[in-house]
Amino acid sequence: MVRRKKVYEGKAKILYEGPEPGTLVQYFKDDATAFNAEKRATIEGKGVLNNRLSEYFMTGLGNIGVPTHFIRRLNMREQLIRSVEIIPLEVVVRNIAAGSLSKRLGIDEGTPLPRPIVEFYFKDDALGDPLVSEEHIIAFGWATQQDLDDMVALALRVNDFLSGLMLGVGIKLVDFKIEIGRVFDGDYQRLIVADEISPDSCRLWDVATGRKLDKDVFRRDLGDLADAYTEVANRLGLMPKNKSTTGPKLVN
Ligand code: UDP
Repeated sequence: MVRRKKVYEGKAKILYEGPEPGTLVQYFKDDATAFNAEKRATIEGKGVLNNRLSEYFMTGLGNIGVPTHFIRRLNMREQLIRSVEIIPLEVVVRNIAAGSLSKRLGIDEGTPLPRPIVEFYFKDDALGDPLVSEEHIIAFGWATQQDLDDMVALALRVNDFLSGLMLGVGIKLVDFKIEIGRVFDGDYQRLIVADEISPDSCRLWDVATGRKLDKDVFRRDLGDLADAYTEVANRLGLMPKNKSTTGPKLVN
Protein backbone atom coordinates (compact mmCIF):
# COMPACT_ATOMS: atom_id res chain seq x y z
CA MET A 1 0.00 0.00 0.00
CA VAL A 2 1.28 3.45 -0.88
CA ARG A 3 0.55 6.14 1.66
CA ARG A 4 -1.39 9.01 0.09
CA LYS A 5 0.19 12.41 0.08
CA LYS A 6 -0.92 15.04 2.58
CA VAL A 7 -1.14 18.40 0.84
CA TYR A 8 -2.18 20.56 3.79
CA GLU A 9 -3.26 20.21 7.40
CA GLY A 10 -5.36 22.90 9.05
CA LYS A 11 -7.08 23.18 12.42
CA ALA A 12 -10.19 21.16 11.53
CA LYS A 13 -9.38 19.49 8.20
CA ILE A 14 -6.68 17.73 6.25
CA LEU A 15 -6.31 17.84 2.47
CA TYR A 16 -4.85 14.85 0.63
CA GLU A 17 -3.93 14.49 -3.01
CA GLY A 18 -7.01 13.37 -4.97
CA PRO A 19 -7.38 10.42 -7.35
CA GLU A 20 -7.27 12.63 -10.46
CA PRO A 21 -5.41 15.85 -11.29
CA GLY A 22 -7.36 18.88 -10.10
CA THR A 23 -9.00 17.02 -7.23
CA LEU A 24 -8.29 16.74 -3.51
CA VAL A 25 -9.69 14.65 -0.68
CA GLN A 26 -10.90 16.77 2.23
CA TYR A 27 -10.83 14.95 5.60
CA PHE A 28 -12.85 16.37 8.52
CA LYS A 29 -11.15 16.01 11.92
CA ASP A 30 -12.86 16.01 15.32
CA ASP A 31 -10.61 18.85 16.51
CA ALA A 32 -12.18 22.13 17.56
CA THR A 33 -10.27 25.35 18.05
CA ALA A 34 -11.32 28.88 18.95
CA PHE A 35 -9.73 32.26 19.68
CA ASN A 36 -7.02 31.73 17.08
CA ALA A 37 -6.33 28.18 18.40
CA GLU A 38 -5.79 29.30 22.03
CA LYS A 39 -8.70 27.03 23.03
CA ARG A 40 -8.62 23.45 21.73
CA ALA A 41 -10.55 20.22 22.21
CA THR A 42 -11.44 17.01 20.44
CA ILE A 43 -15.17 16.56 20.04
CA GLU A 44 -16.10 13.05 19.06
CA GLY A 45 -18.26 12.94 15.96
CA LYS A 46 -17.82 16.59 14.95
CA GLY A 47 -15.91 15.70 11.79
CA VAL A 48 -18.59 13.25 10.66
CA LEU A 49 -21.35 15.82 11.23
CA ASN A 50 -19.50 18.62 9.45
CA ASN A 51 -18.65 16.39 6.48
CA ARG A 52 -22.34 15.53 6.05
CA LEU A 53 -23.61 19.07 6.70
CA SER A 54 -21.09 20.65 4.33
CA GLU A 55 -22.05 18.10 1.66
CA TYR A 56 -25.71 19.02 2.14
CA PHE A 57 -25.19 22.79 1.94
CA MET A 58 -22.74 22.63 -0.99
CA THR A 59 -25.01 20.25 -2.94
CA GLY A 60 -27.98 22.57 -2.37
CA LEU A 61 -25.94 25.54 -3.57
CA GLY A 62 -24.91 23.59 -6.67
CA ASN A 63 -28.58 22.83 -7.35
CA ILE A 64 -29.44 26.54 -7.49
CA GLY A 65 -26.45 27.33 -9.71
CA VAL A 66 -23.92 28.56 -7.14
CA PRO A 67 -20.60 26.93 -8.07
CA THR A 68 -18.75 25.11 -5.27
CA HIS A 69 -15.68 22.89 -4.95
CA PHE A 70 -17.76 19.90 -3.79
CA ILE A 71 -17.72 16.83 -6.07
CA ARG A 72 -18.98 13.99 -3.87
CA ARG A 73 -18.78 12.55 -0.39
CA LEU A 74 -16.47 9.53 -0.20
CA ASN A 75 -17.15 8.24 3.30
CA MET A 76 -18.08 9.37 6.81
CA ARG A 77 -15.17 11.77 7.12
CA GLU A 78 -14.01 12.52 3.60
CA GLN A 79 -15.23 14.27 0.50
CA LEU A 80 -13.79 14.68 -2.98
CA ILE A 81 -13.37 18.33 -3.94
CA ARG A 82 -11.99 20.40 -6.81
CA SER A 83 -8.61 21.81 -6.10
CA VAL A 84 -8.73 25.63 -6.11
CA GLU A 85 -6.39 28.53 -5.50
CA ILE A 86 -7.78 29.89 -2.24
CA ILE A 87 -8.17 33.67 -2.10
CA PRO A 88 -6.55 34.64 1.24
CA LEU A 89 -9.72 36.25 2.60
CA GLU A 90 -12.47 35.08 4.93
CA VAL A 91 -15.75 36.41 3.60
CA VAL A 92 -18.24 36.99 6.43
CA VAL A 93 -21.93 37.79 5.90
CA ARG A 94 -23.99 39.05 8.83
CA ASN A 95 -27.76 39.32 9.22
CA ILE A 96 -27.87 39.91 12.99
CA ALA A 97 -25.21 41.57 15.15
CA ALA A 98 -23.03 39.11 17.11
CA GLY A 99 -19.42 38.22 17.87
CA SER A 100 -16.71 40.58 16.70
CA LEU A 101 -19.16 43.06 15.11
CA SER A 102 -20.95 43.54 18.44
CA LYS A 103 -17.66 43.91 20.27
CA ARG A 104 -16.06 46.28 17.77
CA LEU A 105 -19.03 48.61 17.29
CA GLY A 106 -20.84 48.20 20.60
CA ILE A 107 -24.03 46.83 19.04
CA ASP A 108 -25.96 44.42 21.27
CA GLU A 109 -25.82 40.78 20.18
CA GLY A 110 -29.14 39.87 18.57
CA THR A 111 -29.80 43.28 16.98
CA PRO A 112 -31.12 42.68 13.46
CA LEU A 113 -29.05 44.52 10.85
CA PRO A 114 -30.79 46.82 8.35
CA ARG A 115 -29.28 44.80 5.48
CA PRO A 116 -26.83 41.93 5.18
CA ILE A 117 -23.29 43.17 5.76
CA VAL A 118 -20.38 41.58 3.90
CA GLU A 119 -16.94 41.84 5.51
CA PHE A 120 -13.48 40.62 4.53
CA TYR A 121 -10.80 39.36 6.89
CA PHE A 122 -7.22 38.73 5.78
CA LYS A 123 -6.36 35.07 6.40
CA ASP A 124 -3.24 35.26 8.53
CA ASP A 125 -3.11 33.39 11.83
CA ALA A 126 -0.05 35.31 13.03
CA LEU A 127 -1.99 38.57 12.65
CA GLY A 128 -5.24 37.10 14.05
CA ASP A 129 -7.16 37.40 10.73
CA PRO A 130 -7.61 41.21 10.73
CA LEU A 131 -10.64 42.94 9.20
CA VAL A 132 -9.61 44.58 5.92
CA SER A 133 -11.29 46.97 3.49
CA GLU A 134 -11.69 46.61 -0.26
CA GLU A 135 -8.96 49.27 -0.58
CA HIS A 136 -6.48 47.03 1.26
CA ILE A 137 -7.47 44.01 -0.79
CA ILE A 138 -6.91 45.74 -4.11
CA ALA A 139 -3.82 47.70 -3.05
CA PHE A 140 -2.08 44.57 -1.76
CA GLY A 141 -3.18 42.43 -4.71
CA TRP A 142 -5.10 39.78 -2.75
CA ALA A 143 -7.97 40.10 -5.25
CA THR A 144 -9.06 42.40 -8.09
CA GLN A 145 -12.11 44.66 -8.17
CA GLN A 146 -13.82 42.10 -10.43
CA ASP A 147 -13.03 39.33 -7.93
CA LEU A 148 -14.48 41.46 -5.12
CA ASP A 149 -17.70 42.08 -7.04
CA ASP A 150 -17.97 38.34 -7.75
CA MET A 151 -17.21 37.45 -4.12
CA VAL A 152 -19.89 39.78 -2.76
CA ALA A 153 -22.43 38.40 -5.25
CA LEU A 154 -21.53 34.80 -4.32
CA ALA A 155 -21.62 35.52 -0.59
CA LEU A 156 -25.08 37.14 -0.84
CA ARG A 157 -26.45 34.21 -2.84
CA VAL A 158 -25.10 31.79 -0.24
CA ASN A 159 -26.71 33.97 2.45
CA ASP A 160 -30.13 33.96 0.76
CA PHE A 161 -30.02 30.20 0.22
CA LEU A 162 -28.79 29.29 3.70
CA SER A 163 -31.07 31.78 5.49
CA GLY A 164 -34.16 30.32 3.81
CA LEU A 165 -33.06 26.73 4.34
CA MET A 166 -32.37 27.28 8.03
CA LEU A 167 -35.51 29.33 8.68
CA GLY A 168 -37.50 26.41 7.23
CA VAL A 169 -36.27 24.27 10.14
CA GLY A 170 -36.71 26.94 12.81
CA ILE A 171 -33.14 28.28 12.86
CA LYS A 172 -31.94 31.87 12.33
CA LEU A 173 -28.76 32.32 10.30
CA VAL A 174 -27.06 35.07 12.29
CA ASP A 175 -23.79 35.15 10.33
CA PHE A 176 -21.36 32.85 8.54
CA LYS A 177 -17.93 32.73 6.96
CA ILE A 178 -17.04 31.29 3.58
CA GLU A 179 -13.82 30.92 1.67
CA ILE A 180 -13.64 31.35 -2.06
CA GLY A 181 -11.22 29.84 -4.56
CA ARG A 182 -10.18 30.42 -8.15
CA VAL A 183 -10.44 27.72 -10.78
CA PHE A 184 -9.03 28.00 -14.25
CA ASP A 185 -10.87 26.80 -17.37
CA GLY A 186 -8.42 27.37 -20.20
CA ASP A 187 -7.82 31.11 -20.42
CA TYR A 188 -10.73 31.88 -18.11
CA GLN A 189 -10.84 31.92 -14.35
CA ARG A 190 -13.89 31.90 -12.15
CA LEU A 191 -14.57 31.96 -8.45
CA ILE A 192 -16.27 29.13 -6.58
CA VAL A 193 -17.25 28.48 -2.96
CA ALA A 194 -14.58 26.33 -1.27
CA ASP A 195 -13.52 25.08 2.20
CA GLU A 196 -16.62 24.08 4.20
CA ILE A 197 -20.03 25.34 5.27
CA SER A 198 -20.90 23.92 8.67
CA PRO A 199 -21.88 25.02 12.19
CA ASP A 200 -18.14 25.57 12.76
CA SER A 201 -18.32 28.60 10.48
CA CYS A 202 -21.91 29.84 11.02
CA ARG A 203 -23.89 31.30 13.91
CA LEU A 204 -27.20 29.47 14.18
CA TRP A 205 -29.85 30.36 16.75
CA ASP A 206 -33.04 28.46 17.41
CA VAL A 207 -35.94 30.74 16.43
CA ALA A 208 -38.15 29.76 19.36
CA THR A 209 -35.66 29.59 22.25
CA GLY A 210 -32.55 31.44 21.04
CA ARG A 211 -30.49 28.29 21.83
CA LYS A 212 -27.12 28.44 20.08
CA LEU A 213 -26.53 25.55 17.66
CA ASP A 214 -23.03 26.45 16.45
CA LYS A 215 -19.40 26.74 17.52
CA ASP A 216 -20.25 29.40 20.12
CA VAL A 217 -21.36 26.42 22.26
CA PHE A 218 -17.65 25.50 22.38
CA ARG A 219 -16.26 29.06 22.42
CA ARG A 220 -18.48 30.06 25.36
CA ASP A 221 -18.77 26.66 27.17
CA LEU A 222 -22.53 26.41 26.69
CA GLY A 223 -22.83 22.61 26.56
CA ASP A 224 -22.15 19.71 24.24
CA LEU A 225 -21.06 20.82 20.77
CA ALA A 226 -21.82 17.49 19.08
CA ASP A 227 -25.38 17.62 20.51
CA ALA A 228 -25.91 21.06 19.00
CA TYR A 229 -24.60 20.00 15.55
CA THR A 230 -26.68 16.79 15.73
CA GLU A 231 -29.75 18.93 16.36
CA VAL A 232 -29.04 20.91 13.18
CA ALA A 233 -28.51 17.71 11.16
CA ASN A 234 -31.67 16.18 12.63
CA ARG A 235 -33.83 19.15 11.74
CA LEU A 236 -32.51 19.06 8.18
CA GLY A 237 -33.43 15.37 8.01
CA LEU A 238 -29.83 14.21 7.65
CA MET A 239 -29.61 11.72 10.50
CA PRO A 240 -30.38 8.06 9.81
CA LYS A 241 -33.83 7.15 11.08
CA ASN A 242 -34.33 4.40 13.65
CA LYS A 243 -34.94 1.34 11.48
CA SER A 244 -36.29 -0.86 14.29
CA THR A 245 -39.80 -0.89 12.77
CA THR A 246 -38.57 -2.65 9.64
CA GLY A 247 -36.19 -5.13 11.28
CA PRO A 248 -36.94 -8.54 12.75
CA LYS A 249 -39.33 -8.48 15.71
CA LEU A 250 -38.69 -10.24 18.98
CA VAL A 251 -41.37 -12.85 19.58
CA ASN A 252 -42.04 -13.75 23.20
N1 UDP B 1 -15.74 32.66 11.58
C1 UDP B 1 -15.08 31.53 11.15
N2 UDP B 1 -13.72 31.48 11.22
C2 UDP B 1 -12.98 32.50 11.70
C3 UDP B 1 -13.65 33.66 12.16
C4 UDP B 1 -15.03 33.71 12.08
O1 UDP B 1 -15.71 30.59 10.68
O2 UDP B 1 -11.74 32.40 11.73
C5 UDP B 1 -17.21 32.72 11.49
C6 UDP B 1 -17.84 32.67 12.87
O3 UDP B 1 -18.16 31.34 13.23
C7 UDP B 1 -19.09 33.50 12.69
C8 UDP B 1 -18.71 34.52 11.61
O4 UDP B 1 -17.58 33.97 10.94
O5 UDP B 1 -20.15 32.69 12.19
C9 UDP B 1 -18.38 35.88 12.16
O6 UDP B 1 -17.40 35.75 13.16
P1 UDP B 1 -16.92 37.00 14.02
O7 UDP B 1 -16.24 37.99 13.12
O8 UDP B 1 -18.07 37.51 14.82
O9 UDP B 1 -15.77 36.47 14.92
P2 UDP B 1 -15.74 35.63 16.27
O10 UDP B 1 -16.74 36.21 17.19
O11 UDP B 1 -16.03 34.24 15.83
O12 UDP B 1 -14.33 35.84 16.70
